[in-house]
Amino acid sequence: MKIGIVGLGLIGGCLGLDFKAAGHTVYGVARREHTCEKALTAEAVDVASTRLATLNGCDVVFVCTPIATIVPMVSELAGVLSPEVIVTDVGSVKAALVEAATAQWPMFVGGHPMSGKSEAGIEAAETGLFQGNSYVITPVETATLKTDKGAITTLETLAKQLGSRLYHCSPEVHDRAVAWISHLPVMVSTSLIQSVINEPDNSVQQLAQALASSGFRDTSRVGGGNPELGLMMAQYNRKEVLRSLKRYQQEIALTIEQIEAEDWPAVRQKLEATKAVRSKFL
Ligand code: NAP
Repeated sequence: MKIGIVGLGLIGGCLGLDFKAAGHTVYGVARREHTCEKALTAEAVDVASTRLATLNGCDVVFVCTPIATIVPMVSELAGVLSPEVIVTDVGSVKAALVEAATAQWPMFVGGHPMSGKSEAGIEAAETGLFQGNSYVITPVETATLKTDKGAITTLETLAKQLGSRLYHCSPEVHDRAVAWISHLPVMVSTSLIQSVINEPDNSVQQLAQALASSGFRDTSRVGGGNPELGLMMAQYNRKEVLRSLKRYQQEIALTIEQIEAEDWPAVRQKLEATKAVRSKFL
């Protein structure tokens, strides 16, 4: 297949590497010449250009730009692609995008490969990022819009070639679920890091830094990721991020109450319950 990728950053670069390895021809579009050169050097694309028209002969185009730019990018693509080209995106948020993009392009199908790293940009791209991870496909069906069945099947085939596990759900259900396991953890992790660096006693803070090991590395990892992405998760999945944060706030308030009251059986019960449930959940 001829596969187009718009946005040659971390996710675009990783898709390019894996699709090339699977035998597809990959056409990449970046907004800067310099990014095109880096993508060619990294062998993430066969052809790189700053012009969207380069993608005209492609069978499928993946939009891998930041969340805020996805719908405007689909609209720009609509001006250059032939009507049969399938367009999909990789945005971490779906409800704010999928209907709007489908209205621009009837052959649009929303998708979200659930894989990532702390680093951003083509320099961080690597092969096999999607292997064994989930790929969520989010079709829509409204009075006026319906995701094309053939487009879904093609995206399923490509996602399987990445080694991903497929899931299908509505954009709204996607956003509610990822708020819990992706967007809330980012917000919690940033608050954790901020609280630690706000320690007023400098010597205590320095010692904490020296002692920080695997536990802090695990719990702070997602808070140290791409700030632009975290911001757009909050902006574009605001309702579900707030819902999960408020529920989390209640849990924290309960823990404070229990420790203040020295209610150790309650603290123990919660620790035991989460230990038992975590391994099953994962
Ligand atoms: P990234 O590494 O920062 O790459 C974004 C790319 O988009 C860059 O190559 C950048 O070009 C380009 N770009 C930025 N603004 C643009 C604009 N206005 N018009 C055209 N191109 C623009 O980010 P990423 O992590 O790959 O994220 C890309 C998408 O993947 C996002 O929609 C995100 O929600 C989704 N996603 C991310 C993850 C993750 O964990 N990182 C996981 C799953 C899905 P330049 O090189 O010229 O700056």
